[in-house]
Amino acid sequence: MDGSNHPETAPVLILLGPPGAGKGTQARVLQEKFGLVQLSTGDLLRGAVAAGTKAGKEAKAVMEAGGLVSDSIVLEVLSDRLSEPDCAAGVVLDGFPRTTGQAEALDEMLAVSGQKINAAIALEVDNVKMVLRIAGRFTCGDCGEGYHDTFKPTTTDGVCDGCGSTNMTRRADDNAQTVMSRLDAYQLQTEPLISYYDAKGALSRVDAMGDIEAIGQSIAQIVSKVTA
Ligand code: ADP
Ligand code: ADP
Ligand code: ZN
Repeated sequence: MDGSNHPETAPVLILLGPPGAGKGTQARVLQEKFGLVQLSTGDLLRGAVAAGTKAGKEAKAVMEAGGLVSDSIVLEVLSDRLSEPDCAAGVVLDGFPRTTGQAEALDEMLAVSGQKINAAIALEVDNVKMVLRIAGRFTCGDCGEGYHDTFKPTTTDGVCDGCGSTNMTRRADDNAQTVMSRLDAYQLQTEPLISYYDAKGALSRVDAMGDIEAIGQSIAQIVSKVTA
């Protein structure tokens, strides 16, 4: 023992918030600042749909309608990814858990390896304003950097600041109709997790209506504290 109080297990952080709250944006910031791996179940599921796997085939229609994919499929894609070696550095969960069942399954999964979550960080936003954030969202198809038509445009029109690619993509489910279903699903099924983590003493709240950099700094302060 070196006398320090560094945890012996890798950090596990959760970003909670409705669609458009900035989970993906801030997870990428944490990935760079702290060397953690961003795990987005949305990205994993979109990958499974594109690859045409059994899980992907089952998830496709639900995602297009803006509902929640079943816990069993989500847990399958997540636990496969979590068992890959790079995740040993620690992870930022972005978009997972989204139901109490998923949260309980995560606790059990971590307990097996003597781990537990370091913090659940709730990004607090005005849900109604999320429609605008989602409508303007686009992503670099090559490096995954996220942008926004108004709030985070690329420096040169159509060219990724990070990697120079012009392969920009927009999600099929980022349309006005589906967004309402996704916000409803958040309120009904995911918002109760705020109390779930609060009761465990693991919850931190961040005002996520400000600018991206300032929010990133608030989150980084929390992460530094819980991983010290
Ligand atoms: P989530 O992963 O929670 O759905 P994203 O990180 O993809 O959210 O952000 C949704 C959209 O809003 C993106 O286009 C992103 O560039 C933009 N965005 C993220 N954070 C902010 C912010 N604090 N202010 C304004 N726009 C933001
Ligand atoms: P957003 O960033 O807008 O919150 P995501 O990329 O996280 O969206 O998720 C897109 C879609 O993938 C969701 O609307 C849902 O259908 C599905 N999905 C992602 N993560 C989960 C999860 N943990 N549980 C159930 N469904 C999920
Ligand atoms: Zn790029």
